[in-house]
Amino acid sequence: MKEVRVRFAPSPTGYLHIGGLRTALYDFLFARNQSGKAVLRIEDTDQNREVKGATESLIATLHNLGIDFDEGPETGGEYGPYIQSQRLDLYRQHALELINKGHAYYCFCSTATLSQMREEQQAEGEFVKYDRRCLKLSKEEVNARLNAGEPHVIRLKMPDNYRFAFDDEVRGHVQMDSSQSDDQVLIKSDGFPTYHLAATVDDHYMQISHVIRGEEWLSSTPKHIWLYECLGWEAPKWVHLPLILNTDRSKLSKRMHDVSVESYIQKGYLKEALINFVALLGWHPADDRELYSLEELCEAFSLDRVNKAGAVFDLTKLDWMNGQYMRSLPLHTIADRAKQWFPPQWTEDYQRYLKIISAARERSTLLPELTEYARIFFKPAPLNPEDKDFLLAESSQKVLQWYLQQLTGIDADDAEAINTITKAGIKELGIKGKYYYMPLRLALIGQAHGPDLPTIIGILGKDETLIRLGAARH
Ligand code: GLU
Repeated sequence: MKEVRVRFAPSPTGYLHIGGLRTALYDFLFARNQSGKAVLRIEDTDQNREVKGATESLIATLHNLGIDFDEGPETGGEYGPYIQSQRLDLYRQHALELINKGHAYYCFCSTATLSQMREEQQAEGEFVKYDRRCLKLSKEEVNARLNAGEPHVIRLKMPDNYRFAFDDEVRGHVQMDSSQSDDQVLIKSDGFPTYHLAATVDDHYMQISHVIRGEEWLSSTPKHIWLYECLGWEAPKWVHLPLILNTDRSKLSKRMHDVSVESYIQKGYLKEALINFVALLGWHPADDRELYSLEELCEAFSLDRVNKAGAVFDLTKLDWMNGQYMRSLPLHTIADRAKQWFPPQWTEDYQRYLKIISAARERSTLLPELTEYARIFFKPAPLNPEDKDFLLAESSQKVLQWYLQQLTGIDADDAEAINTITKAGIKELGIKGKYYYMPLRLALIGQAHGPDLPTIIGILGKDETLIRLGAARH
């Protein structure tokens, strides 16, 4: 069997779209699973959309997520360069070859002419496509206009009355009529190729075995198949991934969700959760398991388990997954990743910081939430008037007094001893439930609810615990 070679071919728009991450991830997983190669190719032929630094940031984002390509602009490889703007000659050469073979032609129509054409066709209710008026130009006229330096494009001549049929690894047998295909521009007036020509030429020269991409490209596939045919090349296998949908089943959009992967990272989602979540947007494992590491995904991934139906982007599920990883990843990992959200002085005592993270991660969904939880250990929350009164009540004062006395002989890290005196106090004082625990928590952390007492005391340490209890005594 031919070596599996797949490519992720983003246009550098400045951020990585969730859909882009899914394509990149499936490329990576499929390549790893099949012992093949994953190629990163930058499709930067649309000069108007060029964003400075976008390629570097895209590569960095993918790398930080653990998706590393075998070949690409940074890694290099046998089939480079991997940036389309560095391969312009190759595209032009094949556009000219298509002209010579009679499969493509020069078109001199101006934007104004084309918009008028479109309006007329729309008014007639016709399918909007180029009416081929330049196909009728004589060779002499074409040469004369080219020599005179007239702006022009090169168009692909699509076949008439042709039925395109191909097998898609996800969608099965697909048929499309050529009447739905326009004579695609291959080379634009600025001399740059369009995506269709450049991607096809590159997929051929980079020996891509499977083109994995979003369903929005399905309707362009006939053009690509036709290009392969005209150039006498063997087409790759087609794999069109299902659309990603908002919860109302419209196409995933900025209107309802953040669509940039970077923004999720900035909000404190963990890469493990993002990868796991995005992997399940259109692929389902053989069992009902939901939590998969990247390595496990490489092992389990297969194209025949990619769904045809659109995949709903369910933020609640992402949050749930993130919470799972907050608790299951090594404590040091969470602590190190959370650091950027903490004031430096809160992390100075690293052992104490670890204790805080260990308790906080049990109740947090996102990394920045850990700081909210941590705050009470640096400064108790301010008491509201009701709580102040509650603390002053005789029974509250009794609890504090008793606890203060008992604690003196105890090590703050001795959870067992703390639990023992806590239980003993309930018996001794005959005070229980809210009237027992609330004064202690209010005095220690300024709020009625929160972590259990051994956790609070263990993090505060003996001195601070005694100070806080003492301050609440009157
Ligand atoms: N450059 C295209 C994009 O931005 C790639 C489409 C494809 O994978 O063929 O999505």
